[in-house]
Formats: sequence, C-alpha cells, structure tokens
Amino acid sequence: FFVVVEGGDGVGKTTQIDLLAGLLRAPAGGGFEVVTTREPGGTPLGQELRQAVMHGDHVAPRAEALLYAADRAHHIHTKVRPALERGAVVLQDRYVDSSIVYQGGARGLGEEVERISRWATEGLLPDLTIVLDMEPGPGRLDRELDRVERETAEYAALIRQAFLDLAAREPERYAVIDAARSVEEVAEDVAKATADAMAR
Ligand code: C5P
Ligand code: MG
Repeated sequence: FFVVVEGGDGVGKTTQIDLLAGLLRAPAGGGFEVVTTREPGGTPLGQELRQAVMHGDHVAPRAEALLYAADRAHHIHTKVRPALERGAVVLQDRYVDSSIVYQGGARGLGEEVERISRWATEGLLPDLTIVLDMEPGPGRLDRELDRVERETAEYAALIRQAFLDLAAREPERYAVIDAARSVEEVAEDVAKATADAMAR
C-alpha cells in the first residue's frame, strides 16, 4: 500500500509520516512492514541528486525538472516498487505532485513535467495522497510586508492552491487534512484517512 504525503514547506510532513509509521508497525495498528522514504533523496544516488539540485548554483529549470525525474525513476525502481511487491506499506514524503506544483507550476514548465514524471515512474500512482494543508505564514499579514516577504507569501499561497487543485481533480485518491492544528489532531485524521483507504 502506497501512501504519499504532500504539502508546502513546514506543514509537518516528516512528523506525520513518522507518527503514522509507528502506528502501522505496532501490533494494534496491523503490524505492517513500513518503509518511510522521501523525494528527492530516498536512495544513495538520490542523495547526490538532491545535493546537485538543492545546493548547487542556479540550475536551469529544465535541468532541475530532469534531476528530480532521475531521482524519482531510480527511487521508484530500486526502493518503492520492491517494497510494495513484498507487501510493505510505503510512506513517502513528496512525489509526482511536488514536481507538478514546483517544476510545473512555480517554474512555469507546465504539463510536460507531469508526463516526464509518469514516464520516470512507469505510471506508479499512490493508493492515497495526503495533502497537509495550511495557510502559509500565519500572522505575517498583520503588518506591512517588504517586497521579498510579499513575494514569499504569494509564492507559498500559489503552492498551497496548486496542491488543493490536484486533490480536487481526483478526490477519491486524496485526503486534504487541515494541518494548522496540534500534531496529535492532525495525526488522528492522517491515521483515519489511511485506515479508510486501506479498507477500500
Ligand atoms: O523535501 P523537502 O521538503 O526538503 O523539499 C524542500 C523544497 O524542495 C521544496 O520547498 C521545493 O522548493 C523543493 N522541491 C521541488 N520539487 C520537488 C520536490 C521539492 O522544487 N519535486
Ligand atoms: Mg520535511
């Protein structure tokens, strides 16, 4: 069973994945083998690609998109598919939607990015995608923002909306969860959405 957690930066993806993993591994939660992983950087090659794409000097937008796709192709082929095939639950931090949103939307590369991603993954779709949704930058609109702050806030709002649009496209494969609550409350909804999807 393949669960992906998506959402903007700082919404708590990693925290929620760790909590859900603990739950599913426990005997009461089903005693599953759980593999937690991330994109980019879920494999040794992926770590190098992550360094290249995130910490290098300016990377041309199309090169950036292809580096993410290369990371994803290797990650899905060597780690995710084998885990799914032996019956493990895979909990993954970011997947194709992040590329659609960041490289496709924010970098302006459009729908080609989705096609590249589908090719890279041989069409592997998550059974469930959890979008952790939160209004970006709480409190920051209380005062005058400088230009960089305004651009950052606008960018974060764009990213947020893009994830919501993807979820609206296929509501049966998505769960949008309000992440602007306590870790425990969010975790409860994450567990419920996962249990519901696994029971379907
Ligand atoms: O994986 P992590 O949450 O650390 O990613 C942080 C940043 O990497 C994102 O905010 C985004 O700017 C970038 N990213 C991206 N395209 C992806 C995945 C991540 O641009 N496919
Ligand atoms: Mg994280």
